[in-house]
Amino acid sequence: MSSDIRHHCGLFGIVGHPDAAELTYLGLYAQQHRGQESAGICAADGKKIALRSGLGLVTDALRQRDLAEIHNPIAIGHVRYSTTGSCSEPNIQPLLVTCSIGQIAVAHNGNLVNAARLRREYEEDGHIFVTTSDTEVVLHMLADRRFGEKPDPLAAVLRQLCGTYCLVLLYPDRIEAVRDPSGNRPLCLGRLGEAWVVASETCALDIIDAAYVRDFEPGEIVTLSRSGLSTRRFVEAGACRRAHCIFEYVYFADPSSDIFGENVHRVRRALGSALAREAPADADLVVAVPNCARCAALGYHEESGIAIGRGFTTNHYVGRSFIQPTQPIRDLTVRLKLNPIRGSVAGRRLVVVEDSVVRGTTTRGKMQSLRDAGAKEIHLRVASPPIRYPCYYGIDFPSREELVADGRTVEEIRAYLGVDSLAYLSLEGMLAAAKTGSTDFCHACFSGEYPIPIDPTFHKGVFEQGQLRFFDATEATPLQPVKPC
Ligand code: SF4
Repeated sequence: MSSDIRHHCGLFGIVGHPDAAELTYLGLYAQQHRGQESAGICAADGKKIALRSGLGLVTDALRQRDLAEIHNPIAIGHVRYSTTGSCSEPNIQPLLVTCSIGQIAVAHNGNLVNAARLRREYEEDGHIFVTTSDTEVVLHMLADRRFGEKPDPLAAVLRQLCGTYCLVLLYPDRIEAVRDPSGNRPLCLGRLGEAWVVASETCALDIIDAAYVRDFEPGEIVTLSRSGLSTRRFVEAGACRRAHCIFEYVYFADPSSDIFGENVHRVRRALGSALAREAPADADLVVAVPNCARCAALGYHEESGIAIGRGFTTNHYVGRSFIQPTQPIRDLTVRLKLNPIRGSVAGRRLVVVEDSVVRGTTTRGKMQSLRDAGAKEIHLRVASPPIRYPCYYGIDFPSREELVADGRTVEEIRAYLGVDSLAYLSLEGMLAAAKTGSTDFCHACFSGEYPIPIDPTFHKGVFEQGQLRFFDATEATPLQPVKPC
């Protein structure tokens, strides 16, 4: 289902290392799964900030020569997810500006649900925006004298933001890294010799041999400079309920990473085990739909005792940039990326484990290719509940009408996907597998319970398909009622 979800990002930052830009490059490379539309690095020498960035994968966007030109001891980086439509260079992050308080660069993971309102207010005051990104409003606020006069201007700005955000801000002499009060996205702190490191996922620490120190607390600002580390809060501890994105466990994060206090592989395996208990199948072979479902398939195999095998080969050389927006081409791309192994699946009753199903068109194509390869029966098991609701917190799902589970029963979805049986993991089963407590998670795309305010009369705009769309409050009735955080 991976090509059905767009817009999530990866962050990295390092202070106090002579090869900061090169290490940032590696940190972004390790987090390439979080964003493939563009990559950028900003590096500072204590006085000024330089930016290098481009469209595409890290290896396409940044060249060795770029890194040599920004060989400074402080750096931040960002990878952004691919969309099937066009992506524009102004939206590449980090965003770097020179304003009344000097140079600032910002990299963001998440979605500011009140960005549209804030932006409109600034535009009415004559401010000029150069991107369609919600992130840019943060820079306008930091340059705003009304916030600059506060004792802690950054904290004052952050208190005005609503939504989800991990931010890594680069000033000429330091990094300020922030996690929102709900802790919706992961952000961790690491140590490499004398250098301090921040990253969305611990896999980025591993790749540069940095030691994991701890996760950022929700509502925490950490300042990293050559003179060390200091930390402060911009909201009181426990002021908002935690709302970790459970989809990080289901699909986004790398299996080797530890996020929200758990290893991702372990959680995915537990999701598969729970699925086997809730939805057993009479079958000969468990196969995963690569790559994300491999851990869940392993859990299903361990719990059910059914043999596990490979159902597909993966073509590693098909990049996301190949994916075209039309459905026929998308179907062909699925076949190119995942080719069924006839010798493994022909004549056998398969339990096929998927991490999630979004539009269903991709999954349907995969199931058809297994049938074409001779599979006798296909029992599709999905290691998460049906996705029925949009995400307003930075994940660009297709519109609600495009979700295969919207308005359909499980039996109707089964018929559409063309499988012999279909079962999803329950919400309770998913939360129990994640273990750290159901009240700590956002699961709005599954349940419709939005933990962070998305009151349409408040934010007056949403990001859809990567673009900011304003609307009148009367248009926004599909949004769910929300409780204050
Ligand atoms: Fe994550 Fe879904 Fe919540 Fe969005 S709505 S933050 S994808 S759990």
